[in-house]
Amino acid sequence: MNIAFLGLGAIGRPMAARVAASGMSLTVWNRTSSRAADFAKQFNARHAATPADAVRGADFAITCMPTSQDVESLLDGPDGLCAGLVENSILIDCTSGDPATSRRIRDVLAAKNVGYIDAPVSGGVSGAEKGTLTIMVGGDPAILERARPVLATFGQKIVHCGDVGAGDAVKAVNNALLATHILAAAEGLAALVKMGVDPKVALDVINASSGRSNASMNLIPERVITRAFPKTFRLALLEKDVGIAAGVARDTRVPAPILQLTADLFRIARGEFGEVADHVEAVKMVEQWAGVEIA
Ligand code: NDP
Repeated sequence: MNIAFLGLGAIGRPMAARVAASGMSLTVWNRTSSRAADFAKQFNARHAATPADAVRGADFAITCMPTSQDVESLLDGPDGLCAGLVENSILIDCTSGDPATSRRIRDVLAAKNVGYIDAPVSGGVSGAEKGTLTIMVGGDPAILERARPVLATFGQKIVHCGDVGAGDAVKAVNNALLATHILAAAEGLAALVKMGVDPKVALDVINASSGRSNASMNLIPERVITRAFPKTFRLALLEKDVGIAAGVARDTRVPAPILQLTADLFRIARGEFGEVADHVEAVKMVEQWAGVEIA
């Protein structure tokens, strides 16, 4: 099988490395071409100069960009995806995207007899390296079945969520919960620290009790208490995800004040900390307001 992978960012790169390790024939393209050249050398893949060149002759093209709009912007023009994709091939979009843009991309590709599924992932960079990502898929189940062997190179749990856009929506809601948990845990811990409680003692209790979450069990102990704040998932991308979730709630006319507030708070944090900050650095905003470190 011929696979094209476009977008070798923090999570795309280890996902593409899993495809390469599976033995499937792999072509890579990246906007900053030196990254694709380095990858191609390390993993014995072909390095394409343009998106069209990358997907020419590919059975499956995989995209992993920051936003659906970034994928959409690659469709047109002589170097674009539509110029290279062949009939009956499939575009697997692993971007954490938005449902409306994914549906537009599906329609453009359908006119060329190219299949499309939205297939965002969760499990982080370490899950991508280990090939244990969860993949939430929107689209025709028959297309998912054709794509499953490719998805299985980096995913362990592959779930069909509904029509095109459903994968995006489930991913956005998941990440909105992550964002909410990070902020709420930080607020509570900051108050406890100000009261004189050791945050490690507080986390010991919370993580054996009903308030626990991935934020309290993993992110805060490993990244905040240690002050390590490693850069694995950009705060700007989580801000985008919470905004998508708030938009899904708005479109479905579900009152969602907590999602909306979290989206606004992450927008403030993005403005404050910039485009390269890690998502867990949102805790620093709460710390600044409280005047304490959770450490
Ligand atoms: P990064 O910002 O690390 O990488 C983004 C990639 O997209 C880079 O290869 C970048 O190219 C490329 N890119 C950005 N804009 C464009 C554009 N306009 N046209 C073409 N290429 C572009 O992001 P991640 O790898 O972290 O995330 C990718 C997707 O996966 C996002 O939707 C994110 O929300 C999601 N995700 C990320 C996780 C993580 O832990 N990092 C976990 C789960 C999902 P260049 O090298 O030139 O900058």
